[in-house]
Amino acid sequence: MKEETAMSNTDTHKSRFVLEEKDMPTAWYNIQADMPEMPPYLDGNNEPARAEQLAAIFPPALIEQEMTKQRYIDIPGAVIDVLRTYRPGPLTRARMFEKALGLPDNVRIYYKYEGINASGSHKANSAIPQAYYNKQAGISKLTTETGAGQWGSALSMAGSQLDMDIEVFMVGCSYDQKPYRRYFMESYGATVHRSPTNLTSVGRGILESDPDTPGTLGIAISEAVEIAASNPDTNYALGSVLNHVILHQTIIGLEAIKQMELAEDEPDVIIGCCGGGSNFAGLAFPYYKRRLEGKSKARLLGAEPKSCPTLTAGEYRYDYGDEAKMTPQMMMYTLGHDFVPPGIHAGGLRYHGDSPLLSALVHSGEIEATAVYQTDCFKYALMFGRAEAMLPAPESSHAIAAAVAEARDAAEKGEERTILFGLSGHGFLDLPAYNAYNQGELQDYDFATGTTR
Ligand SMILES: *Cc1c(COP(=O)(O)O)cnc(C)c1O
Repeated sequence: MKEETAMSNTDTHKSRFVLEEKDMPTAWYNIQADMPEMPPYLDGNNEPARAEQLAAIFPPALIEQEMTKQRYIDIPGAVIDVLRTYRPGPLTRARMFEKALGLPDNVRIYYKYEGINASGSHKANSAIPQAYYNKQAGISKLTTETGAGQWGSALSMAGSQLDMDIEVFMVGCSYDQKPYRRYFMESYGATVHRSPTNLTSVGRGILESDPDTPGTLGIAISEAVEIAASNPDTNYALGSVLNHVILHQTIIGLEAIKQMELAEDEPDVIIGCCGGGSNFAGLAFPYYKRRLEGKSKARLLGAEPKSCPTLTAGEYRYDYGDEAKMTPQMMMYTLGHDFVPPGIHAGGLRYHGDSPLLSALVHSGEIEATAVYQTDCFKYALMFGRAEAMLPAPESSHAIAAAVAEARDAAEKGEERTILFGLSGHGFLDLPAYNAYNQGELQDYDFATGTTR
């Protein structure tokens, strides 16, 4: 009975570490200041890409952020105003999940949650500044592609907050299968097309030869880029991978550092799920800086699907960012720009490449990576979700599965360990994937060994 009273004492057993508005970071951290020179982006002729080539589709401020070595970059006041509609975000000690896992007291799990805006993920953190810098450069419309729909949703929301037109090319089969994502984007004022369309020469060409095509992300990117490149008032926006996107996401880790100080705890390992790498890098890179300052010894661990294991089974080499080879070539871990994950994979994180910044740090051994099976992800996502009153995005569940492996490893070895993971989004619009898991319809595929279980 006594112990029950102690457990509910919020002073000694705090779970939520809350920042005030005034504690929200006012500058992003640019890791390029603390890294060796990055290999340049290359154009189609294998020549270093020039800033002018990017200027057809990106505004000057973002091109500058892509290249600069300035360590801290002030967040514009107008961007802070919009970010404050949902930030600072929560950081929580997952005490009920620790209990469900039966962990000893000296193995602690914390998570930093990004599903706190309606679009449901960390992607809003970059959509907002991207909309702002484009508007500032006199651009009135942004185009983009969306597959699963989270990026399109984030950009649509940011567009409505900053009064920019948003035009989304949605992969045809996703358009048919995920109507709720389209309803969401349209509710925030965006125009959503089923790609391929007859609005672009790329789309018209494809429809002529294959009128019933389900579309691909590569086609949708090509259409969005074509519209942006051929209209002076229109630019293109990308939701991950690029340096400026990673920069914007560092607000996650900068907040987390302050919140772990409130918790009077210091992470031993920091985990995030990896698609293009932006939410993981956003949480991990400020801790990389803290390591350089000698204040942290945290291991940084990216978690990816075994069916799309870019960092653990890909090659470190130059590759295109998209199937259609519209982007510059980037030095990164890749499974090949024409890689398509198997149909049995329901867990998101399907991108073939990874952020060049993150890739370089994995290559130099400063950041680690692990690959997890999707059924383990759903199993632990539900266990976490039931314990913590959460519904994780299937992408985020990869970080949960990796956190459980770390916690069990520490418990087995009798070691003390503080684990911090990024919960990149909610799964409210991903219930069909949960249903597939609940019905026992999901299988596991390991790309590295070619085996199914
Ligand atoms: C897009 C997305 C990801 C993967 O993208 P990163 O750039 O690797 O962060 C992960 N989680 C959620 C919820 C997403 O929407």
